[in-house]
Amino acid sequence: MEDKTITCKDCGAEFMFTVREQEFYAQNNFSEPLRCKPCRDARKRANGNRNRSDRFENN
Ligand SMILES: [Zn+2]
Repeated sequence: MEDKTITCKDCGAEFMFTVREQEFYAQNNFSEPLRCKPCRDARKRANGNRNRSDRFENN
């Protein structure tokens, strides 16, 4: 295996998908990442915020 360079679907930045990450993804049956880490983190944060506000609205 080799490190791969992937172009982020969201911001267009190129990022490394390292052999170590590829092995981790393969072990967990994840498909290849489409987004760079900052974009994934931003989406995670956005989801967390939405969940928090959903809970708040439900209360
Ligand atoms: Zn990105």
